[in-house]
Amino acid sequence: MSIYDELGVRPLINASATLTRLGGSVMAPEVLEAMTEASKHFINLDELQRAVGNKLAELTHNESAYVSTGAAAGLVLATAAVVAGSDPQAIQQLPDCTGLKNEVIIHKSHRNGYDHAVRQVGVKIIEIGTETETKAEDLEKAINDSTAAIFWFQGAMTGHADLPLEKVIEIANRANVPVIVDAAAQVPPVENLWKFTQMGAALAIFSGGKDLHGPQTTGLVVGRKDLIDSMRVNGSPNHSIGRPMKVGKEEMVGLLTAVQLYIQRDHEARASQDEEVVSGWCGELNRLPGVQAERSFPNEAGQPLPRAKVVIDAAQAGMSRDELVLALRNGTPSIEVASSGTDTIYVNPMTLADGEDQIVLDRLLAILSKQRV
Ligand SMILES: *Cc1c(COP(=O)(O)O)cnc(C)c1O
Repeated sequence: MSIYDELGVRPLINASATLTRLGGSVMAPEVLEAMTEASKHFINLDELQRAVGNKLAELTHNESAYVSTGAAAGLVLATAAVVAGSDPQAIQQLPDCTGLKNEVIIHKSHRNGYDHAVRQVGVKIIEIGTETETKAEDLEKAINDSTAAIFWFQGAMTGHADLPLEKVIEIANRANVPVIVDAAAQVPPVENLWKFTQMGAALAIFSGGKDLHGPQTTGLVVGRKDLIDSMRVNGSPNHSIGRPMKVGKEEMVGLLTAVQLYIQRDHEARASQDEEVVSGWCGELNRLPGVQAERSFPNEAGQPLPRAKVVIDAAQAGMSRDELVLALRNGTPSIEVASSGTDTIYVNPMTLADGEDQIVLDRLLAILSKQRV
């Protein structure tokens, strides 16, 4: 029936998050139509990237914008741009950073799997602060003539041990060092598409395949024109470090359409719909022995959307959290939720299609009540 049946791959209900390993998000029909339309003709790819970038810049109130193959590729190209600029010889030389500005400053508390994208350009990571605290002087002392940029990671890692972003930008601006914000999962709120750059960050990088609901293989980079122009020459189709991270004409047009839709979307209605779902889930789940459900806000990425936090008391519920997660995954339909600690799941309405919230609740109730003796 579907392509997935044919391949023997079982579609699942994603009640976890916009996770790449589960397919990220689902594109709107308008996005797919634009991609189909774009697929029918040859164009000059650089001209299209500039035209799409101009529209994206206008839509997001930024000086310039660029479509990368995902936020992680945006991190690679942004790093290449601050290290090699637009100098053909430096671009050829990467990831050998000899003779170039080769230091990138990152809070120790911000270190995460995605900083591999920065490191692959060959730069040296200069960590500032500790797991629990960072002082302004830590940043001031770390800046020198080799500093190419300061990377700021916004998400679960932010806000515990770092300097405030305002402070980082203030110190960086004084030293004339660009601040680059990884904001991959930072919409909603939609205003974040312009907030970080209006605060003074040089670039902000978003995933196109998360809540923007664009193609999975896209990222949106917004900010300073000179840096984005350098990203272009460090990116495909030019022979450069970015050449393996090719963005196609279909993806460029698809992301533009997705951003247009996202800016027009009624974000308040969406949030209140999610609130209703979570409150309905919690009410029903709390009737079960050994199950404690409550609204959790904001979500793990810091987005202002609610999830249901569900704690399982294995002795009373008659099954452990892990048994519940497996039963959800192995049942029909298969359902993915997020696990936390040893006894907790988070159930997220953000990635559900219409009607799936009821399916998720019914499966949770069926699995958890069947266990009772
Ligand atoms: C998801 C994510 C990325 C990677 O985004 P892609 O578009 O999948 O490349 C990078 N950084 C952070 C903080 C993320 O959450």
